[in-house]
This record gives sequence, structure tokens and C-alpha cells, in this order.
Amino acid sequence: MKQELTVIKLQEKLYRIQEDSEFMNVDAYLICGQDKAVVIDGLAIMPGLYDCVRAITDKPLSMIVTHGHPDHAGKGMQEFLEAGCEVYRSPREKELVELYIPETDLALIKDIEEGNTFNLGGIILEIMELPGHTPGSVVVFWRNEKILFSSDAIGSGGLWMQLPESLLLTEYLSGLGKLEDLLANYPETKIYTGHSWQIISHIDKDRDYLNKAYVDELFALTEGIIEGTLTGDKKEIPMDIMEGIDIRSVKGNEVVDYCYDVRKIHKKKI
Ligand SMILES: [Zn+2]
Repeated sequence: MKQELTVIKLQEKLYRIQEDSEFMNVDAYLICGQDKAVVIDGLAIMPGLYDCVRAITDKPLSMIVTHGHPDHAGKGMQEFLEAGCEVYRSPREKELVELYIPETDLALIKDIEEGNTFNLGGIILEIMELPGHTPGSVVVFWRNEKILFSSDAIGSGGLWMQLPESLLLTEYLSGLGKLEDLLANYPETKIYTGHSWQIISHIDKDRDYLNKAYVDELFALTEGIIEGTLTGDKKEIPMDIMEGIDIRSVKGNEVVDYCYDVRKIHKKKI
């Protein structure tokens, strides 16, 4: 656990900013174009994201929040709003994102949807919707560099699809299918997630990103659960919000803990 945010330069124009607090170990990403810079996700409780970013770039700044969970739409997002930066999120994440934000800041929160692009000058970021973990989860694709920022949408080794706000696995599968189509054209894509420490601790100590093989496996596991060829082991997660949920977990090679709610696989036949 560290007292300050950690900044890691991943490559030219791309930085990971990592919080390792008592609440969470979680990542945000800064992408710096010639004209503008964008931060993906707003960390959890630790202050300093805005100052960290300002020490790297003085370009106009905005933030894309991939989904409204408090470890991605937290203190850093609040700092960006207070500094007058626009913050983008899916309208389907409105309630979650605005839960902890004072009313005065709401005007700076804007909608994004499938196909929206952010032109930073020499860098274009594309928004792709991947609902499932939450109803309005998005991922961000940097096509020229073949980099995908996925936050929690496909997990980081562990995946939480058992949450009260998570969608049916059948709905998730169609989004995963779309991602598979994209990766078929860009098979060497590096996928930077919201919790890179999980990849390093549970998948490969020398790798801080996921790749197509992980998504292939996730797709196959999801299909298996839906078709009934795969049944997860019963799992207990000692948190209030998990109470009364019948959680199961399956695993593959890279997907180490795929949690789902056994009652939210497909629509019940009436
Ligand atoms: Zn999440």
C-alpha cells in the first residue's frame, strides 16, 4: 500500500496512474495527443490524479469514465469536475456516476455512446459499448496503436458479473461477440484493464495487459455457461451487496475467477 499515486510511462504518450489504497488497487490511464489529453477512469479514494496529470501535460483535459463503480468514478473524477474538465460516461451509468458528486458539477458530465470518437490531435480514441459488468460499461480503442482500454468490462483475470446491476450473460455475450470481431482484425491488440495487479499476480508476473486469447476464453466460458455445458462452483463473497445472490465461479487458463449469478444467465421462460 502506498501513500501516493504511482505514475508509469507505458509508451510514448501513454501513462498508467495507479492507486494502491486501503480501498482498492486500481488503474487510470492518460493519453496525450498534440492538442488534447484524455484520462480514462477516475480512481477511487486517493487524491492527486489531477495534479499528477497536470505535471505531465498542460493540454486541455477531459475524462472518459468507463462505468460508474466507485473505484473508477471516485476521487479523481471529482477533482477533474472541480477543475472544470468535462467528464464523459454512458447515460446508462448516470445514477451510479452521479452518486457522490455535488449537484453543481453535473453540467460538466456528458453522454457518450457506441461509435463516438475523441480526436486528441494525432490520436483518435473510439468508444465501444460492452454492457454486462454494468449496463453502460464502455471500452476505449486506440486503433493506430492497437490498444484497448477495458477497465472492468472483461475483468482483469477475475470478472464480476454477479452484481445486482450486472446484465444477463446472454446480453453480455453479444457485446463480447462484437469485441471478438474487432480483435479478429487486430489480433495483436494489447488490452489494458482497470486492475493490472490481478494480471501480474494471477496470470503472468511479466505481463500487465491482457490479449485476444483471454477474450476468446471469456467468450467460450460465457457460451458454455449459457448452453449449460459449464456450471461454476458455488462461491461466497462476504459483502453486503452480495447477500442473497447465488454466486457461481468458473475458471479457464487466463480467466481465473469468472463470477456470475446463477439466476441471471438468460431470460426466464414464462
Ligand atoms: Zn466495476
